[in-house]
Amino acid sequence: MHQLKSWAEPYKIKMVELLDMTTHAQRLKAIADAGYNTFLLRSAEVYIDLLTDSGTSAMSDQQWAGMMRGDEAYAGSRNFYHLEEAVQKTYGYKYLVPTHQGRGAEHIISKLLIKKGDVIPGNMYFTTTRLHQELAGGHFVDVIIPEAHDPENEHPFKGNIDLQKLSEVIRKYGAKKIPYVSLATSVNMAGGQPVSMENLKALRELTSKHGIRIIHDMTRVAENAYFIKEREPGYNRRTIASIIKEICSYTDGATMSAKKDALVNIGGFLALNEYPVFEEARNMVVVYEGLHTYGGLAGRDMEAMAIGIGESVSYDHIHARVGQVLYLGKKIADAGVPIVKPVGGHGVFLNASAFLPHIKQDQYPAQQLAAQLYLESGIRSMERGVVSAGRDPKTGKNRYPKLELVRLTIPRRVYTQAHMDVVAESVAAVYDRRKKIKGLKMVYEPKYLRFFQARFKPL
Ligand SMILES: *Cc1c(COP(=O)(O)O)cnc(C)c1O
Repeated sequence: MHQLKSWAEPYKIKMVELLDMTTHAQRLKAIADAGYNTFLLRSAEVYIDLLTDSGTSAMSDQQWAGMMRGDEAYAGSRNFYHLEEAVQKTYGYKYLVPTHQGRGAEHIISKLLIKKGDVIPGNMYFTTTRLHQELAGGHFVDVIIPEAHDPENEHPFKGNIDLQKLSEVIRKYGAKKIPYVSLATSVNMAGGQPVSMENLKALRELTSKHGIRIIHDMTRVAENAYFIKEREPGYNRRTIASIIKEICSYTDGATMSAKKDALVNIGGFLALNEYPVFEEARNMVVVYEGLHTYGGLAGRDMEAMAIGIGESVSYDHIHARVGQVLYLGKKIADAGVPIVKPVGGHGVFLNASAFLPHIKQDQYPAQQLAAQLYLESGIRSMERGVVSAGRDPKTGKNRYPKLELVRLTIPRRVYTQAHMDVVAESVAAVYDRRKKIKGLKMVYEPKYLRFFQARFKPL
């Protein structure tokens, strides 16, 4: 087909889900009841839900048809073999261990490969990934390029690994203390920023020299591949599918949250190339997730995932998906609102430190900005700042990340351009009244992943 300039959706709508509209008074009560934490809102109280792109995608008619072909046999479901084939064919990994979602795979690989006192370098932390590394006795070290911590820096591949920094980590701790490099494509916490193929190749060379594995968090690999096609010399004529396969070929194994790029509401997997590691992982999945041919999933879930993987590597799909995100980012930036640049693949990240410079980081500016955006028009976003960063497990002190952000995450194939316009208008309206907004204090703090359940009160 002729390649369209427009990012218009390559699908039409067959069924709709009606939304509830709320009044300002209802929202005021709802956010107070939720302790100013958007995770604690009920979805019925939300108009446009940009909390996350995780498990919120709309499945295609083909995927729904696949759900009807679920083979719910306890062992050896035919859907497992479809999924295994999709993973081998699309990503090139040899062995598959299905898990209920991404963190199930992270749990298994961390327990398997990390020993107490180990160091795991990676291109910026992710909440569940780092927690599993720490619970296994490891210590995460951030080796992303410094540009990633600067919201204004327009580096085209802000997800890249700083190879100098990684070399220093290897020199300091020794390769024996480093079970693997934790490589994410594209980097969620940096704002959905991609890694370049050039950087990946250099990373492979460096790690091979030291006998260190690369474990790939491939949750958003299709979005990363799209940016490589658009931005990296030599890749413009390549298919998204071939770029994805090349990315995976430089790594030794992968954890996948299929709730993101693979277009399903639940599912994930661990994929491996080394048989002995696979054998142990297959043994461990039985303890924590389920038999190795279902890993905590129903047969129908695996079928929808197998089909979703195929759909996720189509150019028309990923062009429209990222196109919609870029459209929203441009509208918000044009209104003068500070955002992370360049706009990433799965959402627009508001720079809360620049949006609310009068609120100190220990008064949770991003948490408050997310609450205010909900109050404004019923749009749900999430904090990605000091609350998400949590406490240092050794010192018990708050970690103060350089990025204090609010994430407007766009579910795949769910909202329209008109919805994006409402979001941009609402962000601009909050920006207009920003000087009147005050900070928050935390009144309840859970022990793990506190951002999910913490409660706040206005100061
Ligand atoms: C969502 C996510 C995970 C964890 O996956 P779940 O399916 O939510 O358990 C891991 N890494 C990244 C980058 C993610 O975005």
